[in-house]
Amino acid sequence: MKNQISEILYKEAIRFLPGGVNSPVRAFGSVGRTPVFIEKAKGSKIYDADGNEYIDYVCSWGPAILGHAQEAVIAEVNKAVRDGLTFGAPTKKEVILAELISQIMPSMEMVRLVSSGTEAVMSAIRTARGFTKKDMIIKFRGCYHGHSDGLLVKAGSGALTQAVPDSAGVPKSYTENTLIAEYNDKSSVQQLFEEYKGKIAAVIVEPVAANMGVVLPEEDFLPFLRNITNENGSLLIFDEVITGFRLGIGGAQEYYKIKPDLTTLGKIVGGGMPIGAYGGRKDIMQMVSPLGPVYQAGTLSGNPVATAAGIKTLEILYENPGLYTEMQLKAIQLADAFAERSKDKKEPIQVNQIGSLICAFFTDYKVKDYNSAVTSDTVKYADYFGKMMDKGIYIAPSQFEAMFVSAAHTEEDIRRTCQVIKDI
Ligand code: PMP
Repeated sequence: MKNQISEILYKEAIRFLPGGVNSPVRAFGSVGRTPVFIEKAKGSKIYDADGNEYIDYVCSWGPAILGHAQEAVIAEVNKAVRDGLTFGAPTKKEVILAELISQIMPSMEMVRLVSSGTEAVMSAIRTARGFTKKDMIIKFRGCYHGHSDGLLVKAGSGALTQAVPDSAGVPKSYTENTLIAEYNDKSSVQQLFEEYKGKIAAVIVEPVAANMGVVLPEEDFLPFLRNITNENGSLLIFDEVITGFRLGIGGAQEYYKIKPDLTTLGKIVGGGMPIGAYGGRKDIMQMVSPLGPVYQAGTLSGNPVATAAGIKTLEILYENPGLYTEMQLKAIQLADAFAERSKDKKEPIQVNQIGSLICAFFTDYKVKDYNSAVTSDTVKYADYFGKMMDKGIYIAPSQFEAMFVSAAHTEEDIRRTCQVIKDI
């Protein structure tokens, strides 16, 4: 596979962009290759600057659930563009999108639109603190909630501690109110509630963790979080930036039948354009300005082009529930291919799959939390990644990400991918 133009672009890129990219994982650092520069995409395929075609399982990290450049979505975007790119004033489309979100996820009685998942989570946490008048939050090791200062933390190894910043440039004081628990470990949450009694504003969780690879919640984990937050006057925040409209139209909250107090959305809700959203119980959302004292604003919030893409995407998903079954069946085929590979090659692989999310870990251990996820052999992953790319299959350049199946993946795409998974 030729890669000359990407090589040239990369050389140029690193002169002007840190690492040559605008988001770190794109630099292919953990797989030791030159990143491919993307020129265009259509349906399930993505094309790089050298003209190579790949079946795309990154799907822009989730938003492209209908496939790339979906005709109906593009038509709405084109129409919206001609009417003006941004007004900084209320529009009908914001109302339609908020209503649609609320109808699809009834726990989101009121919604505020923002421009990214990071912003959605940052604002939801501010709202939770404003509402409860408490400062501390619990997050789970290995869950990602965007790059705002207070959330860029994981705990020191093993121990449950107050978190230390995970990034340079984050003052320790910014993360002192972030407590870290272990995903799927109820006692770690219980302990924090006991130790910091009366101080915890919210527990934030990816209901299906999809930023340490894909890790499913054990059966009683989410109900436990619902109960313990209720009992302690704390809020439960579901970060559904990935799972929203993906695990099913109603996201993880519908799938697991748990009603969070607040929900954060991103990715699919913008249909490929930059949108995030947060929302939840009316009494909580009434804290947000201009109604209440929790300040939050945005020049491009509720952007008319982005809302056009989001509305169309959600409408298509809503009107075609069969798409979810189809995507799930495709993901199961991929999971089966990994299982076959594992058996044939006597190679330890654990596959976690739910709906259209899938992740293969190169490990013997059942992956149920951060500690088991990091047992995966990342050298093996890098090798597998390189071979997949060379065969025209574009997957995440990091072990700790999901593989996304879209409605645009064809049976032929899946068949070819399964074959490559087994052969390489
Ligand atoms: N929450 C989750 C669960 C995410 O996966 C992400 C991004 N991958 C974010 C928040 C942050 O969203 P964004 O990148 O749009 O800021």
